[in-house]
Amino acid sequence: MSADTIHDVIIVGSGPAGYTAAIYAARANLKPLVFEGAFDSGGALMNTTEVENYPGFPEGIQGPDLMTAMRSQAERFGASLITDDVTALDLTGEIKVVKDSEDVEYRGRSVILAMGSAYRKLGLPDEDRLSGRGVSYCATCDGAFFRDKPIAVVGGGDSAMEEATFLSRFGSKVVVVHRRDELRASKIMAERAMNDPKIEFAWNSAVSGINGANSVESITLTDTVTGETRDVEINGLFVAIGHDPRSDLVKDEVHLDANGYVLVEGRTTATNLPGVFACGDLVDHNYRQAITAAGSGCSAALDAERFLASLD
Ligand code: FAD
Repeated sequence: MSADTIHDVIIVGSGPAGYTAAIYAARANLKPLVFEGAFDSGGALMNTTEVENYPGFPEGIQGPDLMTAMRSQAERFGASLITDDVTALDLTGEIKVVKDSEDVEYRGRSVILAMGSAYRKLGLPDEDRLSGRGVSYCATCDGAFFRDKPIAVVGGGDSAMEEATFLSRFGSKVVVVHRRDELRASKIMAERAMNDPKIEFAWNSAVSGINGANSVESITLTDTVTGETRDVEINGLFVAIGHDPRSDLVKDEVHLDANGYVLVEGRTTATNLPGVFACGDLVDHNYRQAITAAGSGCSAALDAERFLASLD
């Protein structure tokens, strides 16, 4: 590939959205160039164990296996994969310019943004070690693993209340851990959680430790007023303190919403810039599932294909 090559499609991101866009673009003979990221190629599912809700796998599939399969499928149809970060983009002109970590420039007629979003973590020492082993950031994904087990949810906003209410279907009990003595959540969401007999609240409490050798056995809570600590036996710890879309790189060029998610036009993946499309969790603060990310990756490739056809 020479430095002068102008690619039809450059895809930034290698989660379900990026790889699905790559599969569709490659099968449309657009020879996409995919930047997978330097350290976390494969996206969020590389950090989990069993995925039970991705259609087509009745027995479930390990997250990394699913992503490796998507990657091979993209390669099989001719996608070129570069395991590096994009560090800068110039998306405003007819020819878009994308720079890698060594400042090498790549040019494309269209760009698909699929950088995903990062779940906010608690920042505790054992959090990563026990992630996928009791620590989770997604109740829809992992709730069913904790049938009849005690669960804790960290957070005080709407998504924490939604997760807690959803998890009360599975868990023997759900303890909502919140730093303050009142919730940030909307009244209706808060009331629903408070009226749920399986949900209890640990007010003025912060998780200060996650304990367990191979899976979560308990958490340590520190009282934010008195500083006292206590251990609570739980097996599932759901962290629901927000997400940050990885839109920093494009924030000066592409329109974002107040929370940093890329804005797209209606039900398409078109951004405010012609030839620039966005998909997956970078856009979606609502569904945030592998299947919805993959679906929007497909849409982005089809939108890019139609855009390119309109240039001819
Ligand atoms: P991501 O998967 O986040 O991928 C984004 C990619 O972009 C990453 O590979 C990253 O390396 C790359 N990237 C970012 N910035 C750059 C850059 N500058 N240059 C190059 N590359 C870049 N969903 C389910 O449906 N079922 C589940 O069971 C499930 N379990 C989950 C378990 C965990 C622990 C987590 C965290 C999430 C889970 N999810 C699950 C949610 C699901 O993983 C996400 O909805 C999905 O991965 C989003 O896909 P995406 O392609 O938009 O982004």
